[in-house]
Amino acid sequence: MKSAAADSCFMSHVLCCMSLVLYRKYRPKTFAEISGQKHIVETLVNAIKSGRVAHAYLFCGPRGTGKTTMARLLAKALNCEKLLTFNFKLSTDPIEPCNKCLSCQSINDGNALDIIEIDAASNRGINEIRDLREGVKFSPAALKYKVFIIDEVHMLTKEAFNALLKTLEEPPQHAIFILATTEANKIPATILSRCQRFDFRKLSVNEIIERLNGIIKKEGIDCGDDVVSFIATISDGGLRDAESLLGQIISVSSGKIDLETVQDVLGIADMRDVYAFVDLLINNNHQEIFKFINNLFNQGKDMAEFMRSSSNYLRKMMICQIDNALVATVAKDMTREQQVNLCSQAQKFENAKIHKIVARLVDAENQIKKSFSPIIPIELAMIDILGI
Ligand SMILES: [Zn+2]
Repeated sequence: MKSAAADSCFMSHVLCCMSLVLYRKYRPKTFAEISGQKHIVETLVNAIKSGRVAHAYLFCGPRGTGKTTMARLLAKALNCEKLLTFNFKLSTDPIEPCNKCLSCQSINDGNALDIIEIDAASNRGINEIRDLREGVKFSPAALKYKVFIIDEVHMLTKEAFNALLKTLEEPPQHAIFILATTEANKIPATILSRCQRFDFRKLSVNEIIERLNGIIKKEGIDCGDDVVSFIATISDGGLRDAESLLGQIISVSSGKIDLETVQDVLGIADMRDVYAFVDLLINNNHQEIFKFINNLFNQGKDMAEFMRSSSNYLRKMMICQIDNALVATVAKDMTREQQVNLCSQAQKFENAKIHKIVARLVDAENQIKKSFSPIIPIELAMIDILGI
């Protein structure tokens, strides 16, 4: 008999594959399809049109904001045999890779020999960069430019960075480097000074909603606006996370997707636990509060996640105490019924108390990372909140 752990492992593997399918399926193939990052698209397009292409680019920004997607798109536009131009009179007129020529097709299929992608997280050392330096010398096999995309470049060792620097100092005409990182502060200044830097920003909730709605329409999924809004809010500006969450939900849902099912499927937090916890805090029931959090702990719940969900929920209550109308602003990710529940719970709390609770829960969540047991910072916070 298979164990529950094996089942859950298998399930998360299935979910992971499903969500990746969606993410890859809708990876932008043109500049126009890129969500957000318009400032970067414009600058790159202008550089391509005017023939002023740099030999090294640094794409910085939070995870899932489209750095490698942009890198591949740039590689494709630089190598396209029939670059599509629209008007081409104004500097703002768009251009796009044709997605039909042999170069475009080989890059879209991921089998272009001249596009070399290196994951620096798993190839950090001097040997990999030495291989790269050897490879740079040779002319491209089929394309105009050889493009080296080095992802998570901040992971390279000091020696590897030094070797990379030598290549960046004298790059052959046919070579272009695109370095991508989530941690630009870890890149040596010598490398930074050789690169043209672009800062990718987190996407707004509305930009993510627009993108998800496009996918939902194409996939023919029956999905409420509150679900889309919820996914957009919890993915915190990362489009890749938003798309993989949507993929996870689609893979386990049949028929119309509603918000409660989604919250259950994602296990982001069992909101019922949060509601019950808040009720106990309102009633100031010391004994029940300690029993409750210990029960959650003994059931193996993620206590840091529980603290995050609780403090986030209480923070919404804190804002709604200022004005009930603000519920529409702070609780976009909740159903109407949940919003009503939030406002009615908010009225039962004293103002001063709720501020203190939010502050202490945020603190407890931070402390959990440093503590050998997650229950201790929570119990300390409770003793403080209850004034015991
Ligand atoms: Zn093309």
